[in-house]
Amino acid sequence: MHFRPESYCIADEPMKPFIDPEEIWELLNRPASTDLEVERVIARSLDKQRLTLQEVAILINAAAPEQIKRIKEGARELKRKIYGNRVVLFAPLYVGNKCSNECTYCGFRASNKSQVRKTLTGEELKKEIEVLEDNGQKRLILVYGEHTEYDPAFIAATVRAAYRVKKGNGEIRRVNINAAPLTIEGFRTVKEAGIGTYQIFQETYHPEAYRQYHLRGKKTDYNNRLTALDRAQEAGLDDVGIGALFGLYDWRFEVMALVRHTNHLEACYNVGPHTISFPRIKDASMLHLGERYFVPDSDFSRLVAILRLAVPYTGMILTAREPAALRNELLQFGVSQIDGGTRIELGGYSGKEPQHDLNRGQFLIHDDRSLNEVIEELLAQDMLPSFCTACYRLGRTGQHFMEFSVPGFIKRFCTPNAMLTLAEYLVDYAPSGTAQKGWEAIERNMPQLNAKVAGEVRERIEMIKQGKRDLYF
Ligand code: SAM
Ligand code: SF4
Repeated sequence: MHFRPESYCIADEPMKPFIDPEEIWELLNRPASTDLEVERVIARSLDKQRLTLQEVAILINAAAPEQIKRIKEGARELKRKIYGNRVVLFAPLYVGNKCSNECTYCGFRASNKSQVRKTLTGEELKKEIEVLEDNGQKRLILVYGEHTEYDPAFIAATVRAAYRVKKGNGEIRRVNINAAPLTIEGFRTVKEAGIGTYQIFQETYHPEAYRQYHLRGKKTDYNNRLTALDRAQEAGLDDVGIGALFGLYDWRFEVMALVRHTNHLEACYNVGPHTISFPRIKDASMLHLGERYFVPDSDFSRLVAILRLAVPYTGMILTAREPAALRNELLQFGVSQIDGGTRIELGGYSGKEPQHDLNRGQFLIHDDRSLNEVIEELLAQDMLPSFCTACYRLGRTGQHFMEFSVPGFIKRFCTPNAMLTLAEYLVDYAPSGTAQKGWEAIERNMPQLNAKVAGEVRERIEMIKQGKRDLYF
């Protein structure tokens, strides 16, 4: 894929900061967008072009209800056209909540003495993963505080340990991580352990706001965090996820900055982020933030639709921080990955710790559904739940592969793999009611495939029913 060069006030150079707040505000402070401008930008996105910063500003500055409606319709159409109805499922697993930083929005901040601190032992990690496998999970994201204990060697060891756990037909086929920024050497170490995506959120891209929220520890260094994914790329780790924590600063600025970050990675490494996340601040122990930048649901759904149009080929993740009804709605506008059956307390999957206890988790989640309940609801909405991990395992990552850029890729690979991994779930884990709905969904989706691929999928489903596992295209 070739990216159009764009010129910015700060030129893109590897390992160099690239955010210029004035440039972003200058674009945002332009007059309200006209209908014609909005239509032109939506049309470019539907033509599968990643939007420029100027074009994203046009969508953000489209505030008339009719224009917002058009943006959401555009996002819906793009999602349907590009991604089809697949939704990839995963689970977060908190490995350790010790932390030497003082992020004023986070329950793990160092000064929070009421937080119960814990690092899972090898045995506890295994127990957690066994429960996750018994639920049917295949993809995890391991999460860590920032602490000297959680160095690259430790992270790599926990990733390897996660891959080793096999219970019944269960196994974890992709381990992503969300951890503090590493050095190039550190990134090499975690890459060698076989991580999928390395995910890190800038929290807020606004340098002054960032300074106010991060009071102590290594995370006070804005630029070190901003350039973390450059170092990941330098280390050969080309599968990376970005994000901003919405509620810390103006959401319009953060959306622009996420796109700027994407452009930077494309300009320097010819590959954009694999995923974008947009967590919204939730209640946490010792949280006293004020309402100034609170993002209401109406703006939240709008920003998700704008992001979908802005970066058409990037996966979009929405976690159980948000309630089920809102997650269901946002799936329509472009979210492509969600977690299910989530527990964020340390040891929360296998233990009997109370849930929703501010002293045992980083923040409160608002979607308590089990993985099976999430799957049931996806099926009811005519979505196709997927546990696919094929691309990562076949080396289809980074610039060699952007599913979006390969014509017919989704129909040839993603949809069949969604069906095969769903079939495994139905055989191994689903209650009979869910299984019936799942098989019906697989049948309903067969016409999406050409006859040859459909035939191959049917054959492989038979093999799964006979006991074969891990079949993919
Ligand atoms: N300690 C690592 C770091 O800071 O990069 C790992 C990240 S933390 C365990 C995962 C993410 O949770 C943070 O990057 C932040 O965006 C998000 N987070 C922190 N406090 C939150 C809150 N109160 N509500 C919602 N999300 C929050
Ligand atoms: Fe620590 Fe990360 Fe929480 Fe900051 S966001 S206090 S670095 S766990």
